[in-house]
Amino acid sequence: MIESTHRPSKVVVDLSAIEYNVKQELARLNDEQVLFAVVKANAYGHGAIKVAQAAEKAGATGFCVSNLDEALELREAGITLPILVLSYVSPNYIDLAISQSISLTAPSLEWLKQVEETLAEKPMMNPLSVHLKIDTGMGRIGLRDEDEMVQSKELFVLSNYMTLDGIFTHFSSADTKDTTYFELQQQRFTRAMDIFSDLEIRYIHTSNSATALWHDAWNSNLIRFGDALYGLNPSGKALDLPYELKPALSLTTELIHVKQVSAGEKIGYGATYTAEKEEWIGTLPIGYADGLIRQFQGYKVIIDGEYAEIVGRVCMDQCMIRLPKRYDVGTPVTIFGKNGTLENTLDDAAEFIGTINYEIVCGLTDRLPRYYLNERINN
Ligand SMILES: *Cc1c(COP(=O)(O)O)cnc(C)c1O
Repeated sequence: MIESTHRPSKVVVDLSAIEYNVKQELARLNDEQVLFAVVKANAYGHGAIKVAQAAEKAGATGFCVSNLDEALELREAGITLPILVLSYVSPNYIDLAISQSISLTAPSLEWLKQVEETLAEKPMMNPLSVHLKIDTGMGRIGLRDEDEMVQSKELFVLSNYMTLDGIFTHFSSADTKDTTYFELQQQRFTRAMDIFSDLEIRYIHTSNSATALWHDAWNSNLIRFGDALYGLNPSGKALDLPYELKPALSLTTELIHVKQVSAGEKIGYGATYTAEKEEWIGTLPIGYADGLIRQFQGYKVIIDGEYAEIVGRVCMDQCMIRLPKRYDVGTPVTIFGKNGTLENTLDDAAEFIGTINYEIVCGLTDRLPRYYLNERINN
C-alpha cells in the first residue's frame, strides 16, 4: 500500500521517548545484562529502522525481529548489531542468514537436524548462530521433550556448522497478578537449563517486557524489550508500571469538512446515527483502511482540547465526529495521544474496542505516513 502523504492523517513517533524507555530499563540491569530492542512488525507499527537507530543510540546492543525479511531490512539500513529472528525460518534460507550474520531460533530438534544436513553440503560457509527455544508452556514453538533437549545438545557439541549462542523461553503470563503459571514455566526452564549446564552459552533469556518489568528479568542476561520500548504497558491496565515509560506514538489528523445538521438527520452507512438536535458534524480523512477499525464507532477523539465522539459507522477512508461547536476545516484532531490537557492512551483505545495496545499499533497500516520527532542525527 502506498503511503498517503498528501493527506493530513499521520502517525507521529517521538524518538526521544524510545530512547528514554531504553535508558529506564538499562538503569535497572546489571553489567552482565544486555537489552535487545524487539522491532518486529515494523517496530509495532512505529517504523523499524528509525526505532532501531534510536534504541541503538540509547544503549540497546541488538535486535529481535520475527522473520528473515525484517532482519534483512535492518541490515540493508546499515545496522550491524546482532539480530535474532524469534520465529521459524525455513532451512532453505540459512545461507542468507549466515551471510548477513543473523541469528536464528531453533524451534525443534527436527529443524536442527535439517539445518545440520543442509550445511554439511556447504562446508565453506561460516557456522550458523542459533538460539535454542524451549517451550515451557507457551505452546507455540520450541522443544518440550527433555530427551530431545539432550539430543540437540549432543548435536551442537559435535556440529561444525552451528554454534549455540543462546537458549531461551517465552512466558505466556508474566503480566498478570496470578503468578501460578509463570512459576510453572520457571520450573520447566530451570530443568531445561540443567541439561545444558555444562555448556558455555552466551545468552540465556526469558524476559519479554513483562518479565523484565515485573519479574526482575528472571534468569536473563538478555532482555527482549518490546512493548515497553514503545512506552506501552504490556499488561494493559492490569499491573502498574514499576517505573515511568513514555508512549512514543500519536495518531493525528485534521478536519476536512464541517457542517451543521438538523435534528433527525442521519450520518454514515446504515444510517445508524441520528442527530438529536442541531449538531456540528466534522469529517476526518481516516478509516478502517488505516487501522481505525469499525469498532471505533462511539470512541472519542480530541479536538482543541475537547472530546468529540465518532458518530455513525467508520468508513474505509473517512469517519465523522460530533463537534462541541463549529471548527474550521484544517483544525487538528488527535485520535491517540495528547491534545490540550486531554490524552487518549492506547490502553483506553484498546479497552474501548476490546483488544490490547499491541494490536492497535500493529494494525496501523502503511497508508499512514510515519513522521519522527527528536531524531538525533549525531550522538
Ligand atoms: C514479541 C516477542 C517479545 C517481545 O514481547 P513484549 O511483550 O512486546 O515485550 C519477546 N519475545 C518473544 C519470543 C516475542 O515473540
